[in-house]
Amino acid sequence: MAWDWDFPDYDNDWRKVAALCKRRDKHRCTKCGCKGSKENPLHASHIVSKRHGGKDALHNLKTLCAKCHSQEPGHYHMRKKYGTVKKRKKRSYC
Ligand SMILES: [Zn+2]
Repeated sequence: MAWDWDFPDYDNDWRKVAALCKRRDKHRCTKCGCKGSKENPLHASHIVSKRHGGKDALHNLKTLCAKCHSQEPGHYHMRKKYGTVKKRKKRSYC
């Protein structure tokens, strides 16, 4: 008898794969090592961004807290939300 259902499509099951990513990384930010909080939740971040052809696949994900995630290139829109807008370092010439 033929399968009458498809295997779960992980590309479309973001919540599931994001949860797996966090579990793999032991629910810690892979950048700063924090465990996340209500104000700074853990995210699953694409290693190769979707814009560059990255997939919603576990091997293309890493766990980052919201603050670290917002510092990733192309995630500037998050900075506003998580209050991580950094002031530009000004070199002081004296
Ligand atoms: Zn972090």
